[in-house]
Amino acid sequence: MVISMSEELGVKTKKSENFNEWYIEVIKKSGIADYSSVSGCMVIKPYAYAIWEKIQSLLNERFRKLGVKNAYFPLLIPERLLKKEEEHVEGFSPEVAWVTIGGSSELEEKLAVRPTSETIMYESFSKWIRSWRDLPLKINQWVNVVRWEFKNPVLFLRTREFLWQEGHTAHATKEDAEKEIEEILEIYREINEEYLALPSVRGKKTEIEKFAGAEYTVSIEHMMPNGKAIQGPDSHHLGQNFSKAFDIKFFDRDEKERYVWQNSWGFATRQLGIMFAVHGDDKGLIIPPRVAPIQVVIVPIYQEENKEVVLNGSRKLYEKLKEKFSVHLDDRDEYTPGFKFNEWELKGVPLRIEIGPRDIERDQVVLVRRDSGDKSSVPISKISNEIENTLDSIQKSLLERAKKHFEEHIEKVEKYEDLERIVNGKWALGGWCGDPACEKKIKDETSAKIITIPFDLNENPPDGHCVVCGKPAKYNVYIAKSY
Ligand SMILES: [Zn+2]
Repeated sequence: MVISMSEELGVKTKKSENFNEWYIEVIKKSGIADYSSVSGCMVIKPYAYAIWEKIQSLLNERFRKLGVKNAYFPLLIPERLLKKEEEHVEGFSPEVAWVTIGGSSELEEKLAVRPTSETIMYESFSKWIRSWRDLPLKINQWVNVVRWEFKNPVLFLRTREFLWQEGHTAHATKEDAEKEIEEILEIYREINEEYLALPSVRGKKTEIEKFAGAEYTVSIEHMMPNGKAIQGPDSHHLGQNFSKAFDIKFFDRDEKERYVWQNSWGFATRQLGIMFAVHGDDKGLIIPPRVAPIQVVIVPIYQEENKEVVLNGSRKLYEKLKEKFSVHLDDRDEYTPGFKFNEWELKGVPLRIEIGPRDIERDQVVLVRRDSGDKSSVPISKISNEIENTLDSIQKSLLERAKKHFEEHIEKVEKYEDLERIVNGKWALGGWCGDPACEKKIKDETSAKIITIPFDLNENPPDGHCVVCGKPAKYNVYIAKSY
């Protein structure tokens, strides 16, 4: 039996009409992840996990150059450790999952399933660090964390368990720590823009929005297709808040004992969800070539009488390309070419090669771009170069398209009355006096919030006024609803 089309395969929801429904439909139909019987916990299937592994290796390579070493710390954190830094525990306790029973006996002390690992790691840091020679100490771990969300779970974007890397460092001086905050944010920007093709707004979080226990938080913010904001990777300067709570001290060069300065920073699997959401279209996912598990899929087109010739030609092509690209030959006999086109489009493979009997005769193939649908005939002799150029071009155009969407969905806000309208589908850009009371008013009255104080728009002091109270603005800020 030949399977030609499947009702199941087509995406029914239009992205432009209902983004939320479109997203869930595409993620499920593309077969990259699934819900599990634990509410809010997801199954990441091999195709998506391969993208995560790619990101891991990109980040590991860059962290290594900064002197960061990978290690592993326990999943379970004793309650007394979690309580040591006051703001930290206050910020996290509403979403901590606890282990209270071991076998059949009640535990003497509750154990938290790690929501983040500052506390368990810094207990060790206080034993490891003695002198200035031990600094800087730079440790990273690749783990899962659990945060008991109560909102509706959404695959990759909002799950109770997710994967991430968390870097934790200790420095002799504040300057050294702050320099690293910038280096890490630059690495995150590079991965986002150059690999995931995601435009990145870099900026500082307000006091209200910063990480619980940090002196300040810098982050990368992304715009979703529906104009809402979602936070990407972030980096926290912890000052000496934790080193004082955990007694992490060192003897400096002058023999005086001092507390270390600390940072923590993280990049999570949510980033995959943002990438899927931003680039996908009504046919399914579009994976940027530089992180795509399959960059090129070869689909042979044949009838019974020319099957052998076409398949042989396809195999030869596959052998030729596999050295240079991650390529897949779809030679399944029970599916029609049309079915295969749909399936690989749904999975977002950036480039498809169609090869039929006439192509074999002419020593050529047809290339089809996933992003634009453009088709072109290419001589086999030039195929390698052509693929390389086309993948490059897809990578660039995905980023450009996302940047254009971002720019088109920013609107300057002068009057408070306009805010509610703007944040319904866009980000508002306006002045803020810096007073938390004005920030709180926005949050309470508009269901939007100040998502970031962007670096690039605050190089010079702004000349406008606070959109809430009308006093002179201290910062330019983006105000948006968050996803
Ligand atoms: Zn104000």
